[in-house]
Amino acid sequence: MRRVSGRTDRVVVVGAGLGGLSAALRLAGSGREVVVVERDAVPGGRAGLLEIDGYRFDTGPTVLTMPELVEDALACVDETLGDWLDLRRLDPAYRAFFPDGSALDVVADVDAMAANITALSGSRDADGYRRFAAFGRALYDAERRDFIDRNLDSPLDLLRPSLARLVALGGFGRLGRKIASYVDDPRLRRVFSFQAMYAGLAPHEALALYAVIAYMDTVAGVWFPVGGMHAVPAALAGAADKHGVELRFGTEVTSVETEGARAVAVHTRDGERIPADVVVLNPDLPAALRLVGKQPPRQRPAPSCFLLLAGSTASYAGIAHHNLHFGAAWRRTFDEVIHRDELMSDPSLLVTSATVTDPGLAPTGRSTYAVLAPVPSLPSSIDWDVVGPRYRDEIVGRLEHAGYIGLGQSIEVEQVTTPADWARQGLAHGTPFSAAHTFRQTGPFRPGNLVMDNVVLVGCGTQPGVGVPMVLISGRLAAERIIGPGLR
Ligand SMILES: Cc1cc2nc3c(=O)[nH]c(=O)nc-3n(C[C@H](O)[C@H](O)[C@H](O)COP(=O)(O)OP(=O)(O)OC[C@H]3O[C@@H](n4cnc5c(N)ncnc54)[C@H](O)[C@@H]3O)c2cc1C
Repeated sequence: MRRVSGRTDRVVVVGAGLGGLSAALRLAGSGREVVVVERDAVPGGRAGLLEIDGYRFDTGPTVLTMPELVEDALACVDETLGDWLDLRRLDPAYRAFFPDGSALDVVADVDAMAANITALSGSRDADGYRRFAAFGRALYDAERRDFIDRNLDSPLDLLRPSLARLVALGGFGRLGRKIASYVDDPRLRRVFSFQAMYAGLAPHEALALYAVIAYMDTVAGVWFPVGGMHAVPAALAGAADKHGVELRFGTEVTSVETEGARAVAVHTRDGERIPADVVVLNPDLPAALRLVGKQPPRQRPAPSCFLLLAGSTASYAGIAHHNLHFGAAWRRTFDEVIHRDELMSDPSLLVTSATVTDPGLAPTGRSTYAVLAPVPSLPSSIDWDVVGPRYRDEIVGRLEHAGYIGLGQSIEVEQVTTPADWARQGLAHGTPFSAAHTFRQTGPFRPGNLVMDNVVLVGCGTQPGVGVPMVLISGRLAAERIIGPGLR
């Protein structure tokens, strides 16, 4: 594995997103002097927090999988997860609602899930699900150590025994077909393949390797920290602070000063120069590369999302913490969003009501709803400043039709975020999900993290990829470029 060259005593991490914080903790644990420079007033980046009139909303991720990666980051400074976070396992992980009026509770326990599937579509699919769960576990084991949790310097690094295992498992076929080989019922096929959208792809396009996301999501379990997902970056930042990391919020880095192929300092908007032996960059990939004077590569962006955060006087007994409302259309939905620059004509929506688990996130008797709709990234023919308010009304109308009776009337506070807003936050192509995980933008083909002699990238734009588990791992990988593998 290639390492940064020269001194590594003092590391400046630009950005306190989950990736930057994960790297900072590992570096602090190894005895490095670490300064984290963050432009926002709080840590977390995309895993942000919005407080309005006694409501607390997560502005980014709501689905926490693989909490052992948070535990691992805290362990770098000898901290224990339980001292920082009160994690609740969600049961069900999701409630899936189908257009025919049926519903399915997705639970992590394989036997309980098989029983739910038997009730929905019969024992044949339940047996298929058991085989899918075993496949997901095997896939995860084969991918994790050799391909995800490891710095890859070249495609040749893929030539390991696990590659043969992945081939044998059918990882290089298409996800949609693979899932169909386990379950017949189209409703179940959706439940186990919609996660391709998290990777920025349609199930019929994505490699079966991405069944690993469905495995993490539907078999390994989903968690929620009391206080909201923002509690995760808050905990990581708190632990970093406790262990001597200097956290400087409200400080934007405008450039990285270089001498030849080495960075020597970062410069802030306030005109300060902060010297560094090594610089770790957590901003969105194109922005990070521009800080060191490099041109971002041309990439296919993942689709974006439209996010409605609503504080409401209404609560609905039939919903769970996470609710998937599938439209009748399927392949067409992905085509519209990914290839045709269109809004979903028959939307599938994720509705998260965090107050189901943690009522403290809203004033007494009130509820929070986060509604996420996949939409095309930018550039787009959709003028979001015009379409946004209309789309908000359409989504609320759809939900009222799906059983959220009186939702529109019940909303006291709300915030809408569209691709235009994500772009205003500096996210390339107006998407918070970075580059799509096409084959050419995955593994060693995704931009590597070592971009100069002593400049390392961290976060969802570099390897291994998008989502909370991946960016936490990217923090470990970035730190290992500096301190070596396996070290603290
Ligand atoms: C609406 C939404 C829903 C999501 N849902 C899920 C989910 O359910 N589950 C899941 O696993 N993932 C989900 N994700 C994805 C996940 O949130 C991201 O992949 C992850 O948080 C990205 O972390 P990061 O460290 O790469 O980047 P960021 O969080 O963007 O961190 C980068 C940091 O750098 C700072 N920064 C940028 N430029 C500068 C500068 N010049 N100077 C100083 N600081 C700077 C930023 O302010 C930010 O704090 C979701 C994302 C969104 C937006």
